[in-house]
Amino acid sequence: MSDFPAEPYRIKSVERIRNISREERERKIAEAKFNIFQLRAEDVYIDFLTDSGTSAMSDNQWAGLLEGDESYAGCKNYYHFEDTIRSITNFKHIIPVHQGRAAEHLLFSNTLKPGDLLPSNTHFDTTRANIEYTGAEGVDLVIEEGKDPQADHPFKGNIDLYRLKEFIKKSGKEKIPLGMLTITNNSGGGQPVSLENIRKTSEILRSNGIPFIIDACRYAENCYFIKTREKGQENRPIIDIAREVFSYADGCTMSAKKDGLANIGGFIGINDDQLHEKITNSMILVEGFRTYGGLAGRDLEVIARGLMEALDEEYLAHRIGQVREFGELLRSLGIPIVVPTGGHAVFVDAAALAPEIPRHNFPGWALTVALYREGGIRAVEIGGVMFGKRSAEGKDLFPPMELVRLAIPRRVYTESHFKYVSGVFERVMSDKKIIRPLKITYEAKFLRHFTAEFAEI
Ligand SMILES: *Cc1c(COP(=O)(O)O)cnc(C)c1O
Repeated sequence: MSDFPAEPYRIKSVERIRNISREERERKIAEAKFNIFQLRAEDVYIDFLTDSGTSAMSDNQWAGLLEGDESYAGCKNYYHFEDTIRSITNFKHIIPVHQGRAAEHLLFSNTLKPGDLLPSNTHFDTTRANIEYTGAEGVDLVIEEGKDPQADHPFKGNIDLYRLKEFIKKSGKEKIPLGMLTITNNSGGGQPVSLENIRKTSEILRSNGIPFIIDACRYAENCYFIKTREKGQENRPIIDIAREVFSYADGCTMSAKKDGLANIGGFIGINDDQLHEKITNSMILVEGFRTYGGLAGRDLEVIARGLMEALDEEYLAHRIGQVREFGELLRSLGIPIVVPTGGHAVFVDAAALAPEIPRHNFPGWALTVALYREGGIRAVEIGGVMFGKRSAEGKDLFPPMELVRLAIPRRVYTESHFKYVSGVFERVMSDKKIIRPLKITYEAKFLRHFTAEFAEI
């Protein structure tokens, strides 16, 4: 792992982590009924469950905590937050919220009604849930390459522009109050969207009078991919690219737990005055006054500082390089992964890795159990348990892909941690019987992956 710049930071404060013994891990995972969501984080050595809210803050951000102004209304940190976000996005109104899904809820509950349609490349699951909560429907129109784990394409997060046009024609623009793009495309593996695709999406939507909203959670990582993969963009500062990206949109939703390098928070950016008024009125009920939105003054300060740090090109080169090289390391061991790697995670194709385990014995989930038992690593299945269903006749229905996601927290793990993880994978590859087939012994009606219980066969 050397084909990218070393960390552009050094470590000032550390957090002790422990790899408990194999016998203890064996006991803990059995007690958790073979469900990694039921483990205590203390019993995990390397935690790749999510990149959301797990970033390490900088000294500058920690210092910002002390400068928190906890006045109820109009605290100084709100103005710093607003100025910073406006300098990046140029949106007229900036509304803080406690995390991304609150932004989605406020935006959709004030714009969508039953029967409406909302196209995107791929809606993230909280986005889709908030759309459906209003009675509207989210529609995914990502390009074909974005659905194929082995297809090589620099911008697998792109929306299919032809299908978007046809979709608007067929459905009628009056049924479509908003159009969206998720950058990077989280559900599609953190795959980027090209600047050209963003511009053309904007042209199509705006020429039909449909406002264009960006789900901006990983916009800085997306801008780095634009800079390094799109012709003509290689000499531009990241912030310049970001400004152009947002110039094509009428608003955005953002979880600062990603490219805000913060542990909590988010915001809405919006140009429309009337919509701004509706949102700030309704948010009093659920988030609070418009200058704090469910956050403390110190959180607003941390986000303002984190947003600028996430646009630092040296940071991004290290971050994206770290994810890419980790993917390469696994590939060199013969582990099938989704290529090219996206911005924030490496996805292992568990169906290809353990073809001897049938889908109804959950090979992806079984791999997450094996990674914990062998090495204290926590990864998450995105496959048959998370998205599978049981039909009325009791038949198992499975999603097309059986993946295991290793999400990489920002500024948290070093090269030796990744080497350690690849060593654990090497052991698994040398004896596939380590991956033991499972059966479900308990499942809830909705979102079964969080609480499902399993037995090993
Ligand atoms: C995380 C995420 C959200 C939701 O944000 P939360 O802060 O977790 O509520 C929405 N969209 C995308 C693409 C995300 O990755």
